[in-house]
Amino acid sequence: MPLYEYECTNCHHREEKLVRQSVSSENLQCPKCQQFTLSRLISVPAQVSSHSAAPLPLGGGCGVGPPCGAPWCQRKG
Ligand SMILES: [Zn+2]
Repeated sequence: MPLYEYECTNCHHREEKLVRQSVSSENLQCPKCQQFTLSRLISVPAQVSSHSAAPLPLGGGCGVGPPCGAPWCQRKG
Protein backbone atom coordinates (compact mmCIF):
# COMPACT_ATOMS: atom_id res chain seq x y z
CA MET A 1 0.00 0.00 0.00
CA PRO A 2 1.29 3.41 -0.84
CA LEU A 3 2.09 5.78 1.92
CA TYR A 4 0.86 9.29 1.44
CA GLU A 5 1.64 12.37 3.40
CA TYR A 6 -1.13 14.70 4.40
CA GLU A 7 -0.99 18.16 5.77
CA CYS A 8 -3.73 20.08 7.46
CA THR A 9 -4.15 23.42 5.81
CA ASN A 10 -5.67 24.75 9.01
CA CYS A 11 -3.15 23.84 11.70
CA HIS A 12 -0.39 22.46 9.47
CA HIS A 13 -0.45 19.17 11.25
CA ARG A 14 1.27 16.54 9.18
CA GLU A 15 0.22 12.97 8.99
CA GLU A 16 1.29 9.96 7.04
CA LYS A 17 -1.41 7.62 5.97
CA LEU A 18 -1.47 4.29 4.30
CA VAL A 19 -4.20 4.22 1.71
CA ARG A 20 -5.55 1.16 -0.01
CA GLN A 21 -6.00 2.84 -3.30
CA SER A 22 -5.73 6.19 -4.87
CA VAL A 23 -8.52 8.01 -3.15
CA SER A 24 -10.07 11.14 -4.45
CA SER A 25 -8.68 14.44 -3.42
CA GLU A 26 -11.41 15.14 -0.91
CA ASN A 27 -10.10 16.39 2.35
CA LEU A 28 -9.86 14.21 5.39
CA GLN A 29 -10.47 15.13 8.96
CA CYS A 30 -7.50 16.43 10.79
CA PRO A 31 -6.97 14.50 14.02
CA LYS A 32 -5.61 17.56 15.67
CA CYS A 33 -8.01 20.38 14.94
CA GLN A 34 -10.94 18.17 13.82
CA GLN A 35 -11.39 20.18 10.66
CA PHE A 36 -11.77 18.60 7.29
CA THR A 37 -8.76 20.36 5.99
CA LEU A 38 -6.34 17.49 5.72
CA SER A 39 -5.20 17.37 2.15
CA ARG A 40 -2.74 15.11 0.49
CA LEU A 41 0.60 16.57 -0.32
CA ILE A 42 1.62 16.41 -3.91
CA SER A 43 4.11 13.66 -3.75
CA VAL A 44 4.52 10.36 -5.39
CA PRO A 45 4.66 7.22 -3.33
CA ALA A 46 8.14 6.08 -2.57
CA GLN A 47 9.36 3.92 -5.35
CA VAL A 48 12.16 1.49 -5.00
CA SER A 49 14.31 1.68 -8.05
CA SER A 50 16.64 -1.24 -8.06
CA HIS A 51 19.12 -0.16 -10.66
CA SER A 52 18.74 3.56 -10.88
CA ALA A 53 21.19 5.75 -12.67
CA ALA A 54 24.07 7.19 -10.76
CA PRO A 55 23.25 10.37 -8.91
CA LEU A 56 24.19 13.59 -10.59
CA PRO A 57 27.68 14.54 -9.61
CA LEU A 58 28.02 18.04 -8.30
CA GLY A 59 31.08 18.80 -10.34
CA GLY A 60 29.31 18.38 -13.65
CA GLY A 61 31.51 15.58 -14.82
CA CYS A 62 31.16 11.86 -14.95
CA GLY A 63 34.50 11.16 -13.35
CA VAL A 64 36.94 8.71 -14.76
CA GLY A 65 36.61 6.81 -17.97
CA PRO A 66 35.25 7.92 -21.30
CA PRO A 67 32.71 10.76 -21.35
CA CYS A 68 29.30 9.44 -20.52
CA GLY A 69 27.52 11.74 -22.96
CA ALA A 70 24.93 12.83 -20.46
CA PRO A 71 23.55 16.34 -21.01
CA TRP A 72 24.87 17.45 -17.66
CA CYS A 73 28.30 16.01 -18.27
CA GLN A 74 30.78 18.68 -19.16
CA ARG A 75 33.46 16.28 -20.22
CA LYS A 76 34.23 16.19 -23.87
CA GLY A 77 35.85 13.29 -25.60
ZN1 LIG B 1 -5.55 20.48 11.66
